[in-house]
Amino acid sequence: MFDVLRKSLKVGVVTSSYPATPAALSPHARGCPEIDFAQWQDARPAARVCPTGAIAFTDAEGRRTARLDLGHCVYCGLCAEVDPAIRMTRRCEIAAYRRPDLISQATYSLKPDGTHERLVKGPDTPAPMVAQPKAVAELGRQIQAEAARLFGRSLHIREVDAGSCNGCELEISNLSGPIYDLERFGIHLVASPRHADMLLVTGPVTRNMELALKKTYDATPTPRLVVAIGACGCGGGIFGVNYATRGGVDAVIPVDVYIPGCPPNPYALLYGILQAVRKRAQA
Ligand code: SF4
Ligand code: SF4
Repeated sequence: MFDVLRKSLKVGVVTSSYPATPAALSPHARGCPEIDFAQWQDARPAARVCPTGAIAFTDAEGRRTARLDLGHCVYCGLCAEVDPAIRMTRRCEIAAYRRPDLISQATYSLKPDGTHERLVKGPDTPAPMVAQPKAVAELGRQIQAEAARLFGRSLHIREVDAGSCNGCELEISNLSGPIYDLERFGIHLVASPRHADMLLVTGPVTRNMELALKKTYDATPTPRLVVAIGACGCGGGIFGVNYATRGGVDAVIPVDVYIPGCPPNPYALLYGILQAVRKRAQA
């Protein structure tokens, strides 16, 4: 007992001061890719190596429409290794209300060899919500204030694993640890959807979990919020749609906020949770 107490005093406070200070990312942390559409010479190499189809293109009548879908991206960095117009950023606190807001695209005229001639349309970058340092500083207070206004009390979250590899669960469980300490914002993870205001759903929805997810949604009292977590929750991720999975969460139940990443880190999760609460408060 005294040993534990002595150790705790020796270690001191380990809780992150986020959101009062910006997210403290490891120097090795990798965020989403960014494409310099004006300088993009050829979408084919990146599309060839992209394991999820996040970078894809269609050619028609001498034109190519190429796109990047962050809802499918697993932040692997392969595209940046083969294409100088693509770089990996450290941007991770990203969320979107609408699935199309995670997609940016541009149209090019083509040279005979299949490379891009010139940009003829776009880039259309609806730009998902990205945390700014000033907004981050308000993050925790906004979560508490908006949840209290919406629900009249603290926010209760039920996590649903609809087929995840458990990478996203590791990040969600980190929210409850001493570093991120989700409960300091008045947010609690609960064991039953009947006690929940919000569902955090991970994984490409497996066909075996489809009915369970629908029942969980029906059992959650209104106003209920649904947040799709990770590339799998947003669009099926590396698994896509196949004999065993339905793809993203919105193939089965309505989604209020999409949080991309593979997996999204706890800062990204906090940011997305705030956006979900804000969206419902403004409705
Ligand atoms: S970082 Fe994203 S877009 Fe690039 S190859 Fe990996 S999955 Fe595809
Ligand atoms: S998004 Fe990545 S970490 Fe999360 S369930 Fe899918 S594969 Fe696993």
